[in-house]
Amino acid sequence: MRLKNKIALITGASSGIGCAAAKLFAKEGAKIVVCARREEQLEALVSEIRRDGCEATMFAGDVSDEQVAATLVEKAVEQYGGLDIAFNNAGIIGAQKPLVDITLEEWRQTLEINLTAGFLAAKYQVPAMRQRKNASLIFTSSFVGHTIGFPGYGDYAASKSGILGLVKVLAAELGPEGVRVNALLPGGTDTPMNVANASDAGPEVLDFVNGIHALKRIADPEEIAQAALFLASDESSFVTGTSMLVDGGVSISKG
Ligand code: NAD
Repeated sequence: MRLKNKIALITGASSGIGCAAAKLFAKEGAKIVVCARREEQLEALVSEIRRDGCEATMFAGDVSDEQVAATLVEKAVEQYGGLDIAFNNAGIIGAQKPLVDITLEEWRQTLEINLTAGFLAAKYQVPAMRQRKNASLIFTSSFVGHTIGFPGYGDYAASKSGILGLVKVLAAELGPEGVRVNALLPGGTDTPMNVANASDAGPEVLDFVNGIHALKRIADPEEIAQAALFLASDESSFVTGTSMLVDGGVSISKG
């Protein structure tokens, strides 16, 4: 029970990494507030967590909406009495086009969801987390834009590396108050977002994606959730301001 008596907020919980983290954090004793846009998936997740005898509640909404950011924190405080952990994980893959072909509207949408939502999350989460001991704020970034510049991911890379700057400043601002702030940088992960799972992706796409990782495979979402658990728990009590790669060696592999 590495998160016993902790209250955790997890966004992007309707599938993939966020869903795996919600189940894992609940199993480790946290009371959970989950958010994503799809209500049905969240309901199924909350039912599953409760069936296992753990506590969870949900709020369906768009994380780039300021009111949603505020409501999520209110929910954690009103329902469970505070906020110890926030895993700001919701994200989109972006336009997937050469930079010059990305429209301003597409650029803004990616930045809104992947970066501005992180600012809004912090803006509302930090005041509640300041009241707690050993609070942990985690943002999901990516190796894309940090260690690798994949063609076709300009908007995504800009948004995800923007998160790294946000994390460093927040960590410096909040360190004196004992709030830790870290970024988690997954490698390719077997979720609906991964290009290998796109409806038009042939087996050669999965071979390529597997092949660029030193481990010659992509991660299960549960493996990324385990790293989020480390950052959420007091086991990482001296870790703050870091960009933690959990990437199967994609950043150091040359094939
Ligand atoms: P996913 O598509 O399974 O999950 C994304 C989640 O975010 C879903 O629950 C989705 O509903 C939610 N979401 C998207 N936009 C939202 C919005 N505006 N408001 C609320 N919720 C929203 O994919 P995933 O791989 O689990 O993605 C989780 C995070 O991991 C993302 O930030 C992604 O960029 C990052 N990431 C993924 C990979 C990968 O290969 N899958 C690699 C590196 C980083």
